[in-house]
Amino acid sequence: MITLPEHSIVISPVGTSDSELFEPISMGIKRIFGYKTEVIPFFKDVSFALDPKRKQYHSTPILEKLEKAAPVRAIKVIGITSVDLFIPILTHVYGEAQIGGAACIISTHRLAEGLFLAADKDTYYKRVAKEVVHELGHTFKLRHCKDNACIMHYCRSIKDVDRKSKQLCRYCKTLLEDEMKRIAVSSELIADSS
Ligand SMILES: [Zn+2]
Ligand SMILES: [Zn+2]
Repeated sequence: MITLPEHSIVISPVGTSDSELFEPISMGIKRIFGYKTEVIPFFKDVSFALDPKRKQYHSTPILEKLEKAAPVRAIKVIGITSVDLFIPILTHVYGEAQIGGAACIISTHRLAEGLFLAADKDTYYKRVAKEVVHELGHTFKLRHCKDNACIMHYCRSIKDVDRKSKQLCRYCKTLLEDEMKRIAVSSELIADSS
């Protein structure tokens, strides 16, 4: 993967999130995207996104706020939150991303489903890292993939999350490489013209 050495992918805790997660998340990001990561909290209060009737948080305005808060060196920013997220057409989401944009978010709220956390930390970390890579994949323009082992496969349930691998299929990997090349070239063009 071609990466821009001066850039990083920012992991941003939103509201409350478990700091133990940052290490497995960071490893997942480095493995797939090659970028270094940094943890920067931008805001704690997410009450602006609360839907009082649903008692859940609308992920889209949180994404907008993350995008605005991120420093220029952040090629992407991923929010990590423990609140339950939704978008209006769905009962809940594990995460949301701006396709080809800068920001994405995941919620850990439903990722511990069926686990006894003290004993199943490993499975929990795997789920979280998979969802992080999946949402970041969207910000690199990847769409949902039909291959149910591919990390870009759309998951309706936690079983689907456990079933898919932590890897991109060959097809998605090629698309990601092309997009990373495109980003590197367009940033060189900007550097040349300044
Ligand atoms: Zn998706
Ligand atoms: Zn795929």
